[in-house]
Amino acid sequence: MSDTPADASNTPASAPAAAKPVKHRRYRSGTAKWHMSRESVSISITDVAQWTEKECHDYLVEVRFGSMDNVRCPHCGTIEKHYWRELQRRWKCKGCGSTFSVTSGTVFTDRKRTLKDIITSVLMWINSAAGQPALELKRHMNTTYNTVFVMQHKLREALVRGYNVGVLNGEVEMDGAHQSGRRAAEKRGVPQGSRPVDKDTPVDKLKETMTTQTGRAEEREKQRAAGVVNPEFGQRLPKDRRILFAIRKRSGARGKGACATRVAVGLAETAPVAAAIMRDFVAMPESYLNTDTSPAYTELGKNYKAHLTVEHSKELRGPNGENNNQSEELNWRYDRAEKGVYLNIEPKYMLDYAVETAFRADTRRLPNGQQLKLALNVALSVGESLFWKGFTRGHHREAELIHPAPQPAKPSGPKKGRHPIPAMNGRPPR
Ligand SMILES: [Zn+2]
Repeated sequence: MSDTPADASNTPASAPAAAKPVKHRRYRSGTAKWHMSRESVSISITDVAQWTEKECHDYLVEVRFGSMDNVRCPHCGTIEKHYWRELQRRWKCKGCGSTFSVTSGTVFTDRKRTLKDIITSVLMWINSAAGQPALELKRHMNTTYNTVFVMQHKLREALVRGYNVGVLNGEVEMDGAHQSGRRAAEKRGVPQGSRPVDKDTPVDKLKETMTTQTGRAEEREKQRAAGVVNPEFGQRLPKDRRILFAIRKRSGARGKGACATRVAVGLAETAPVAAAIMRDFVAMPESYLNTDTSPAYTELGKNYKAHLTVEHSKELRGPNGENNNQSEELNWRYDRAEKGVYLNIEPKYMLDYAVETAFRADTRRLPNGQQLKLALNVALSVGESLFWKGFTRGHHREAELIHPAPQPAKPSGPKKGRHPIPAMNGRPPR
């Protein structure tokens, strides 16, 4: 046998003995470490797919009530071990005698899908990092677009009414970001940012082509004229422009970021709007406020224990560590959801999407099974859907949820519910 050591037998004899290359390890942030870990995934789609309908039912009972012994009747509120009717999978209330199921009085009331379908869809929605297109869920579930669109929006509604509530205290950051009004649908296929420029083209000619390329210069002017004036710079904002306010509570632990988030939408970043938002979401006298130097917060900041500002035109972090980077981070997340997934969020439903982003941000370090339980718990405890029940039959929300007060908003899209051609022989035309 040859006398080469075992470990050298793999290298070809002709290769010279080179110095061992330095291994450059890829930098991993704490977040990446978490997402790569085994603990971050505690439930999978295939797990749920193997559950029986009874197991799905038991799971939802646990998520909604805790156990079969403490079931709350949605009709009268009695918490009891109600009479259980196995065959119908419904309870009969010991207090008022009415019957109800695990989805009665929740956003899933009058459901047509099976419980397994509901849990699976919510899990898929949870598993998407930045958000999930309804079209994608339609393909996963092989159902209609309307079904999944309404279901996703019912989840968002549940979060708006059940998650984005209550005041924050402690180290609070607040920031407003210009959002919406991008009209992404019109810009699809049109290159963003700089265009290749032929250096010999005269400037006038260049301007001309730019206007025709981006088009709609007149229309944009018209929109500006109808919009709100930006208090900071005096320029008119487009009609669809909204300001997304992110209020976040710092966790206090280094590298852990924010631990609680509230979001709100306003027409402009002004003091009255900011005041209304703070009234709803911040315990002012016991908190420290961190903002940028926007004049909206100058007076309001005096109601706090302290008000720290950072001048964003100069720096992201002040000389004494002043920053509102957690709020900025949420704005960035919303940006990512809008520009990467949802593409053209209607201003009327902006808050819904923002709250979804806030929920995803707050639960980012939880295993997905826990995220699923949280989302389902909220969806099962806010009562019936107020905004999305009957949406496909033309019942649309007639309010835009903005601060300081909700504004009336028209139902968007074509009229639904009645066919333009009257029925013949008692049967609507196809
Ligand atoms: Zn009852």
